[in-house]
Amino acid sequence: AIILGIESSCDETSASICIDGEIKSNIIASQAIHAKYGGVVPELASRAHQQNIIPTVDQAIAAAKINKNEIDAVAFTRGPGLLGALLVGTSFAKSFALAMNKPLIEVNHMQAHILAHFIDDPKPNFPFLCLTVSGGHTQIVLVKDYFEMELLGETLDDAAGEAFDKTAKILNLPYPGGPLIDKHAQNGDPKAFKLPEPQIADLNFSFSGLKTAILYLVQDEIKKNPNFLDERMDDLCASVQDRIVFILLNKLKKAAKETGVKDIAIAGGVSANSGLRKGLLEMGEKYKWNVFIPKFEYCTDNAAMIAIAGYQKHLIQDYVPQDIAPLARMTV
Ligand code: ATP
Ligand code: MG
Ligand code: FE
Repeated sequence: AIILGIESSCDETSASICIDGEIKSNIIASQAIHAKYGGVVPELASRAHQQNIIPTVDQAIAAAKINKNEIDAVAFTRGPGLLGALLVGTSFAKSFALAMNKPLIEVNHMQAHILAHFIDDPKPNFPFLCLTVSGGHTQIVLVKDYFEMELLGETLDDAAGEAFDKTAKILNLPYPGGPLIDKHAQNGDPKAFKLPEPQIADLNFSFSGLKTAILYLVQDEIKKNPNFLDERMDDLCASVQDRIVFILLNKLKKAAKETGVKDIAIAGGVSANSGLRKGLLEMGEKYKWNVFIPKFEYCTDNAAMIAIAGYQKHLIQDYVPQDIAPLARMTV
């Protein structure tokens, strides 16, 4: 079966073609316009999606070397995400399905980040644990089956990606700061600055205290030395990254211990972070886990993960009617 996947939940317009569970194309149009505002501007995102959606889908079809008439079903991100952004992908998918008389498949974006693990081999076995860390979410999920997932813990305030991006802003780095912190961290000392660890007993997370601690630290140090940021950028980034990774992996270790599950995965944009990838591999070796880390291109928002989730729903004929509407909030 040939599935067209469409993603438009935030600031990436993406389209992908999946043939019998194999990804043949994954075209991603990123929106550069948000950088100068220091974050995603919802109205601008919607307009950019409208401009990008048709060329992106055309490219995905061409790159997969198929004809659009051969598509068997259309899968789209229903939510969670920015409502105006979701509306563009949803409306496109509905129109395409209606015009071509093909079934329509809704996909939960957070489930899709996890199901990206079923694109390439080796694939995790059910049940597995997934730490989903992205711009809007931080979750530990017990994945029992493709669409049967239990949320074991989540962030009580900022998401991990948000912690990276907000810290980057304090350090005067441009948006999105996560990848830049990662880059600077590679030349810095992770123990240079001592940062707090949130005291939360269960499997939930908190990152807002960390952000405040960095703000005060930077303010104090700049008073003593106006060149503080320039001189200590690498050490600051290394220390922040080390702390975020420590908080994430500590909870993952706790979840693995409590559930007895040994197949452990990470997903979402922050799983591109080199410190997290390295830390997870080390922890996996120590505790004899089977560790699953997605390819870089399947970490941040992409339509391949929507197409692969859509393929699994197509196999069980889980379709939705034309009056389906997007949802800004959806749980995993
Ligand atoms: P959600 O999936 O929760 O709706 P989103 O789609 O905006 O949110 P993703 O695209 O999955 O999130 O991830 C984007 C986030 O990943 C940003 O916060 C970005 O800074 C972060 N990120 C990307 N690469 C890295 C990296 N190498 N290190 C740290 N953070 C990173
Ligand atoms: Mg994005
Ligand atoms: Fe995402």
